[in-house]
Amino acid sequence: MSNNGGTTRRIIGGGLSGLAAAINFAKNDESIEVHEARKDIGMQFHPNYQVLLKESPETPASESDAKSYLNRWGLNPQFQYKDAKKFLCCTQKRDFAISLKEPLPLILRGGENSLERGLAKEAEDLGVDFHFKSRPKARPGDIMSAGSYRTDMAAFGAYYENSDFPRDQFLYMHDEKYSPRGWYLYIIPMDKDTIKVMNCCSKPHAKKVKKLLYKAVEERPVLRDIIDGAKPTGTVGGQGGVHFPRTAIKDGVYHTGEAAGFQDPWRGFGMNYAIESGVLAQRAISNSLDYDKLWKSQFKERKKADIARRGIFALLGNRAFEYGMRKIKEGDEVDWEEINPSGWKKSLIYNTFYSIEMAKKTVWDSW
Ligand SMILES: Cc1cc2nc3c(=O)[nH]c(=O)nc-3n(C[C@H](O)[C@H](O)[C@H](O)COP(=O)(O)OP(=O)(O)OC[C@H]3O[C@@H](n4cnc5c(N)ncnc54)[C@H](O)[C@@H]3O)c2cc1C
Repeated sequence: MSNNGGTTRRIIGGGLSGLAAAINFAKNDESIEVHEARKDIGMQFHPNYQVLLKESPETPASESDAKSYLNRWGLNPQFQYKDAKKFLCCTQKRDFAISLKEPLPLILRGGENSLERGLAKEAEDLGVDFHFKSRPKARPGDIMSAGSYRTDMAAFGAYYENSDFPRDQFLYMHDEKYSPRGWYLYIIPMDKDTIKVMNCCSKPHAKKVKKLLYKAVEERPVLRDIIDGAKPTGTVGGQGGVHFPRTAIKDGVYHTGEAAGFQDPWRGFGMNYAIESGVLAQRAISNSLDYDKLWKSQFKERKKADIARRGIFALLGNRAFEYGMRKIKEGDEVDWEEINPSGWKKSLIYNTFYSIEMAKKTVWDSW
């Protein structure tokens, strides 16, 4: 008999957080059903690469790569990823090539070889039962991991045929004109013939994200040269919501990932919040622990830094990035941790902007 005494646990939503929970339940010898609204796992995105961040700046570099991060959370999927090291960095005023001291792991999301397909395979091998095209109403004891329920930010990307852009290079741009309130635009080479140009914005500009991307491609010389008049061969888009709740257990249902409101309001990054909250919900349910206590303690510092940085970038826009990059020159190797404030300066700046941003959120319910 399974560890849950013959009853089957239900997870609603087969994204990152639902699958992370399912795998850890199955490893604990509990019988599990995952209900996914779409006809397969990994259908909510067109294939695109997403950055998987470290749990905290203190995580040692040697342990911060994607595979060891996932292993620490009980996951061992096969999936496609690449490390981003060389960047063409664009502020509003200048463009310069840099390399990163510690590369960013870029994880394939959506479709074949994506992280979620790898997790689903791992779950299936452990005996998890999948139900597709299934959207059951949540009952007490279920995990709700159906993704975002509000729109605070939006992303829109276009794929272009381009084999000239170096395959080992990426572009990262902060230009207020196209990504207002301190958001950003980037280019990732997808395969040997295609690149993806992606723009991100938050409210009140989220609806204009597509128009602003095409405007940037037309107007900003560095992008115009790369795209060279080509027409997009396809597009990708999505939206995300952030609202850290008082409790993530509503009517006995455990909410995880974006369904709980866990997401970074600064850059719209939610993969690590999703994975970790999924596993924490499993641990709470399997071991009769307090889920709210677990996620609050796990996310405390990260959430505060993410909210404070949103406040800084929303207020200063380009100037925040321009200031951070002021000493960086063409060809430099960049250590992000050295650019970020530290010690008492960090505490003062982050505490101040965290309080301002939280006050704004309370009054206007937006970041
Ligand atoms: C364009 C884009 C780029 C991004 N880039 C990054 C990045 O670089 N780094 C980063 O960390 N994060 C990034 N994010 C955010 C990240 O993808 C999400 O935060 C993360 O996937 C959330 O995981 P989740 O498990 O909560 O939900 P999801 O991964 O969205 O999974 C939810 C699942 O539930 C299913 N579902 C929905 N409704 C129901 C229902 N009623 N019943 C059953 N199933 C349902 C969906 O089909 C889906 O499979 C990006 C998001 C977008 C849109």
